Amino acid sequence: MKRRDVLQLSTAIATGLVLPSITSCSSVVAENPSAPPAPPAAPGPFTLPPLPYAKEALAPAISAETLDCHHDKHHQAYVNNLNKLVAGKPDASKSLEEIILASDGPLFNNAAQDWNHSFYWKSMKPAGGGEPTGALAEAIATAFGSFAKFRTEFLTAATSQFGSGWAWLVVDQGKLAVAKTSNADLPLKHAQTPLLTCDVWEHAYYIDYHNLRAKYVEAFVDKLIDWDFAAANFAKAIAH
Ligand code: ZN
Repeated sequence: MKRRDVLQLSTAIATGLVLPSITSCSSVVAENPSAPPAPPAAPGPFTLPPLPYAKEALAPAISAETLDCHHDKHHQAYVNNLNKLVAGKPDASKSLEEIILASDGPLFNNAAQDWNHSFYWKSMKPAGGGEPTGALAEAIATAFGSFAKFRTEFLTAATSQFGSGWAWLVVDQGKLAVAKTSNADLPLKHAQTPLLTCDVWEHAYYIDYHNLRAKYVEAFVDKLIDWDFAAANFAKAIAH
């Protein structure tokens, strides 16, 4: 990020024009020593999974700076909050999915955001994107008419999600569908099986794309989707 842009972002944060979460991003830390560093891992049963690629590997579609902020700070914070919320309670021995299905409020929000982010990291790979092949490609053509129509529907869902949330390709009652959820909500709560997801919270794209969410989502679809991950999830979903 250029210094001018950082200053503009700092001004926007100071005046409350952007979400407070942006203040923990590394670009701001670099220019503003008073900004908080990455939170240390809190003890507990849940741990931050490592990224499945190097932080520089998704550039220029997503910068190392964004992944540093998004994974090391935002995702770590959800994991830390989750560990604090389950400490000393029966939930501490439950799986993430069990907690998600049985909870609401802060416990649900932090558990679901841990799950969503772990799934999002795996939905992308370096030099990904383009079109899938095999059974998933055939299922997309059947469900949406063509890959181009699926792409348009996914972009529309991701860009029309008001405020923070997620866009998904899911299996819903045996059929492929595009879905969108707000805040921490996820397909697991709606009896759907997710195949891939795109994080459309501002913290996912603000450093690289500022307010241009559509440009970020286009880069996600065209350059980042790991279709092998989606195809493996699809094979498991239809085998049930
Ligand atoms: Zn996120």
